[in-house]
Amino acid sequence: MGVYGVSGFASNVGTPHPSPLPREREPRIGQRVQLGRGGSAPNGDINVSKVLVIGAGGVASVAVHKMAQLPEIFGAVTMASRRKFKCDAVAASVKERFGYDIDTEEVDADDVDATAALIERVEPKLVVNLALPYQDLSIMEACLRTGIDYLDTANYEPRDEAKFEYKWQWDLHDRFREAGLMALLGSGFDPGVTSVFATYIRKHLLDRIDTLDILDCNGGDHGQHFATNFNPEINIREVTAPARHYENGEWIETPALSTKQCFDFDQVGEKNMYLMYHEELESLARHLPEIKRIRFWMTFGDQYLKHLEVLQNVGMTRIDPVIYEGREIVPLQFLKAVLPEPASLGETTRGKTNIGDIATGTKDGEQKTVYVYNICDHEEAYRETGNQAVSYTTGVPAMIGAALMLTGQWRGEGVFNMEEFDPDPFMAMLNGHGLPWQVRELPGPLPF
Ligand code: NDP
Repeated sequence: MGVYGVSGFASNVGTPHPSPLPREREPRIGQRVQLGRGGSAPNGDINVSKVLVIGAGGVASVAVHKMAQLPEIFGAVTMASRRKFKCDAVAASVKERFGYDIDTEEVDADDVDATAALIERVEPKLVVNLALPYQDLSIMEACLRTGIDYLDTANYEPRDEAKFEYKWQWDLHDRFREAGLMALLGSGFDPGVTSVFATYIRKHLLDRIDTLDILDCNGGDHGQHFATNFNPEINIREVTAPARHYENGEWIETPALSTKQCFDFDQVGEKNMYLMYHEELESLARHLPEIKRIRFWMTFGDQYLKHLEVLQNVGMTRIDPVIYEGREIVPLQFLKAVLPEPASLGETTRGKTNIGDIATGTKDGEQKTVYVYNICDHEEAYRETGNQAVSYTTGVPAMIGAALMLTGQWRGEGVFNMEEFDPDPFMAMLNGHGLPWQVRELPGPLPF
């Protein structure tokens, strides 16, 4: 197995569009606009810059720390989660770092009535769902009921089956469109930034994309024997699922973690990466149909894989209930309870993430291979927000997607994926808000 990477030979062609969000398009603080159809505010209007963030994990924490730095867009933020004390802890950190006040609430977002009641009370312009994928449909339903726009970072997943696909959420397109509402799906890093990188490549770097490889490397070390960098239950379900990639109009399935390559990541070094299925493959295949092959790769260390194998072998990653001392428990949920909380890893994590897209295709009739990627430093992310880079690289794009919706730069009626919008304002905000990106031209396609 050879090692391929960018070190040493690729030419850096710069980071275009470093400009911040165009000021003239931002709303005035407290500007009030008419609600769309289905709106619920008693007086018929709503504060344009108020958001309701649901969830209080690492991703939500980063998103609200970033929102607090843009009070001209995020005039007011309410954070609600299953356990209010977690929201209160995040709110205290935001207040201490940025002097910005956040309201906090408790909600069970599986309960549509309770979530709709909360939305009616808070009267946000937008609901930012940073809870778990299980809550996507109930929160979308609550948004439809109350006439409020919606954003998330991960697609719906039923609890009893380790399967994620966009079907359930895409099925709500007509209802959102008829209500004059917008739902933006997958505004994290992958999906999210990687989807926007693809549309940026198609808009500026290649006339046509033939192949796309998404490479996700976490070169960070948290010093624990075994821990996951985001919700352990969601992470382990994703990693242990069969790999799938898209080739010539077909989905090709291979056993989980069975295809390995080594890649030399800029500022991280050589890492083993494994072919996986990831949700943006489904939406990219739908929205960029000219691409012949789309693959997703993620790096894992030998230590992580060794623990995962043992946990699988002893049945600890099962998602079906087992009877323990007379009551049902789900082994994976129990495992989550004994693993370190991802949010607690921030303080000890050192190193960098490097996530990006490598695309081949043609530009002005010539074959080209281009690489667009971001490098994020765990310790810098922690210094700014109290969270490590995996939460940071997800929470920042969630804030940016929300900002583009609130300012009307990304607008539509219905349910949308990230690659359906103009990449430029999003790419500009990445540069201005902590996730700068680079473009390199590679000498040729990946040799594998
Ligand atoms: P965490 O598990 O740290 O946080 C999830 C939060 O949701 C917790 O505060 C939890 O509450 C809350 N929650 C869970 N169930 C409910 C419920 N029924 N009602 C209200 N709140 C609830 O996860 P992360 O912050 O790491 O991840 C958040 C989301 O981001 C996930 O959907 C994840 O899949 C996604 N993600 C997306 C990425 C991307 O690049 N697109 C990358 C990484 C994550 P409590 O603390 O009380 O349990």
